[in-house]
Amino acid sequence: MTEAVKVLHIAIIGAGMGGLATALALAKKGFTHIEVYESASSLGFVGAGIQMAPNMARVLGRLGCWEEIKREATNVRETSIRKSETNEELAHVPMPDIESLYGFPHMVGHRAKLAGEMYKACQKEPSITFFFATTVDKVTFSAKPSFTAIPRKGGEPYQVHCDVLLAADGIKSVVRPQMLRALGVDAEVVNSGQAAYRIMLKREDLEHDAELLGLLDGDMVCRWIGERRHIIAYPVAGKSIYNISSAHPDTNFASAPSASYTTKGSKAAMLAIYATFCPTVQKLLNLVPDGEVCEWKLRIHAPLPTWTYGSTALLGDACHPTLPHLNQGAAQAIEDAGVLSVVLARCPDPSPAAVGRALKVYERVRKERAELLVSMAAQSGRALHLGEGKAKEERDRAFKALTKGEGKGGPSPDKWADREVQRMIYGHDCVGVAEEGFEGIYRSLP
Ligand SMILES: Cc1cc2nc3c(=O)[nH]c(=O)nc-3n(C[C@H](O)[C@H](O)[C@H](O)COP(=O)(O)OP(=O)(O)OC[C@H]3O[C@@H](n4cnc5c(N)ncnc54)[C@H](O)[C@@H]3O)c2cc1C
Repeated sequence: MTEAVKVLHIAIIGAGMGGLATALALAKKGFTHIEVYESASSLGFVGAGIQMAPNMARVLGRLGCWEEIKREATNVRETSIRKSETNEELAHVPMPDIESLYGFPHMVGHRAKLAGEMYKACQKEPSITFFFATTVDKVTFSAKPSFTAIPRKGGEPYQVHCDVLLAADGIKSVVRPQMLRALGVDAEVVNSGQAAYRIMLKREDLEHDAELLGLLDGDMVCRWIGERRHIIAYPVAGKSIYNISSAHPDTNFASAPSASYTTKGSKAAMLAIYATFCPTVQKLLNLVPDGEVCEWKLRIHAPLPTWTYGSTALLGDACHPTLPHLNQGAAQAIEDAGVLSVVLARCPDPSPAAVGRALKVYERVRKERAELLVSMAAQSGRALHLGEGKAKEERDRAFKALTKGEGKGGPSPDKWADREVQRMIYGHDCVGVAEEGFEGIYRSLP
């Protein structure tokens, strides 16, 4: 990297999964002036689990924070897909060889640990400055982008001018609509019609029940699938917590404010949605304390025509929000981070023209893959949520074949448990691809 590129002033909006990883990746490349603007007053991550696939771990490994994240996480060795009503196993897919195949295991852990370790690593980098409790508002997309930063605790709004603007501000991105408007493109957020509960049960809540304790102490991801809804569960935080996440038709948000993506849910409503599920699931859901049910609206949007505009780029959920059925949303935001650090470090000079071209290389390397995974997640959701009929019978036959073939019995309707899909997702080295492809793509750009 040239000295002139090294001192580019890079502003990142959002200290979520993508923003933290981007700041860290840029600092590791040697950039000296990185600022992160975050509207929340601290990281304040929701209490929820997260699947950390080998492609995410590969990027974090390069950034030096994977070993610590991994310490409390569970190495997934098997997955069990079950009929929601009866608990009968439709497919049992062992995953003993993930680490030997891809160099990293597939782990499940706590979001707070993942974000916390990335943040700790960022704090060790003198080149990164965080501005918490600061909301970014109006953006100007000139050669040197600028935006209004509004301190939430009173101070006067101020203007920030930078050389590169990276918007990691999530599904509710303020930058995306402004950028698309500036480009004359219309792309609205799409309501997926699905919502999710996220639940964490403590070890002491489960200890009285041998069956539930067995789930907590296993190395297994369990999915109970039913018509238009399913539940996925796994142990996190050194097996001190059983994490449960669901997907079901979104019926409760009608009464929530339209801008809201989360709402306090009612336990009775949650139990009603899963009333037909087997006694094992009922036992789990009944353990949720009253008043602690939280529901997420799941939103996506159609693929965008572009992720960049001059020296500004979108990343993560700001440009490729996904349904959670493939468990790749954060992993893809972290892949974006790895690739952004490569293309900016290889930018031949600090001019806005060169920065804009480097960001186009990022888009070329990332967009097709991220959008393919978004469509696969939606496809997986449709297969998981089938109602009675021929399609469901065929799906269940495909699941049974998987078990007979010990996970090698053909394509899995649950893409997450499909060996070929795993190869395509987990085997990908986004940073290596960007390093190798940069020169050729940069030169080929119009
Ligand atoms: C139920 C569910 C389960 C999931 N499970 C998985 C999983 O197992 N594995 C996986 O890889 N992914 C999973 N995901 C997806 C994953 O959580 C997201 O894709 C990921 O968090 C996106 O990261 P991000 O950085 O783009 O956005 P976020 O993490 O949402 O971060 C955006 C940040 O920007 C800040 N911000 C927003 N607007 C502004 C503003 N105007 N000014 C300043 N700051 C702002 C926000 O406060 C936030 O901190 C799941 C998602 C859901 C809903």
